[in-house]
Amino acid sequence: MTEDRVYNFSAGPSVLPEAVLQRARAEMMNARGSGMSVMEMSHRSAVFSEIFAETKEKLRCALQVPESHEILFLQGGATLQFAAIPMNLMEGGTADYAVTGNFSSKAAKEAEKYGTVHIACDTSDTGHNRIPVQSELSLTPGAKYFYYCANNTVYGTEWPYVPAAEAPLVCDMSSDILSRPVDVGRFGLLYAGAQKNMAPAGLTVVIVDRALAGHALPFTPQVMSYETLIQHDSMLNTPPCWCIYMLSLVLDWLQEQGGVEGMEQLKRERAARLYACLDESRLFHAHALPGSRSDMNVTFRTGDAELDAAFVRFAAQRGLVNLKGHKIAGGMRASLYNAMPMEGVDALIDTMKEFEKNHV
Ligand SMILES: *Cc1c(COP(=O)(O)O)cnc(C)c1O
Repeated sequence: MTEDRVYNFSAGPSVLPEAVLQRARAEMMNARGSGMSVMEMSHRSAVFSEIFAETKEKLRCALQVPESHEILFLQGGATLQFAAIPMNLMEGGTADYAVTGNFSSKAAKEAEKYGTVHIACDTSDTGHNRIPVQSELSLTPGAKYFYYCANNTVYGTEWPYVPAAEAPLVCDMSSDILSRPVDVGRFGLLYAGAQKNMAPAGLTVVIVDRALAGHALPFTPQVMSYETLIQHDSMLNTPPCWCIYMLSLVLDWLQEQGGVEGMEQLKRERAARLYACLDESRLFHAHALPGSRSDMNVTFRTGDAELDAAFVRFAAQRGLVNLKGHKIAGGMRASLYNAMPMEGVDALIDTMKEFEKNHV
């Protein structure tokens, strides 16, 4: 790591691979012989068209997206999809929502405007510290889709399995996309805001089964209609060009690191080290229950809010930043995305042990 950089545990926007930042810097003033940066180029230009097509193809390869599914590069964040999904897929019927955290709860509330939301499960009674097993899910016959969030960024839980449902699966993968292989063909739609594990903020990736498009409610804005967006190859209006370019650099880096299989090995190792430290600790404890724990966002606390704050300050002085938990969850959160080097995890563990020695 370059000397003046910190270990950044932010949940998002979050750390990007240093090699990607270096390459973006090298190409900043003159991208591909154009004499300008990608930020300055028309989205209809030949150079950008090439970048756009390549990025799509790289993502299709990285996630092995089948030809049945279209890849869309959109704006509006994951939150816009909370509305776009029911507008396009609900047809005024019923959809099942698994509420296992903050973002799935928000998505369910938004969907209520467009049809009937059936809550398939709700883990709020235990502070969203676990993922329900398949038999706990209450499914509606004839539901338009089953919605869940694969990794709960705020509370630090992660679905250890892909739920089974007759209805098409719709999944928010904002904080775990590209961290492991996914059988995309099993999903009707999956999507992710890019700023957690893919690229800078401003890009949302939607991967949708083309067969599901074409049923949007009549008042759906054009810019939110999957059918229209597919027809225009994400270029109904200006796409987030710079973020798409950054995603292409991240995908090159990911390929060099062994692809999503390589990422999965690394994420397991990072998380295993940190949870082992937490399970041994006499001061810190993990929030999520074993079997439901997230490899991407590790949530933990001491049980004393002042001591938590003191630890966050102590770590920041050592160049380990953004460890404060989300305001609705409290405690600490270490986000261990693809770009977090193993040395960052080891440095965090050392820092926790040192703090513990002084406070137990
Ligand atoms: C961050 C996050 C969101 C919200 O993303 P925006 O792009 O800010 O709308 C939604 N879902 C998950 C799982 C997230 O981590």
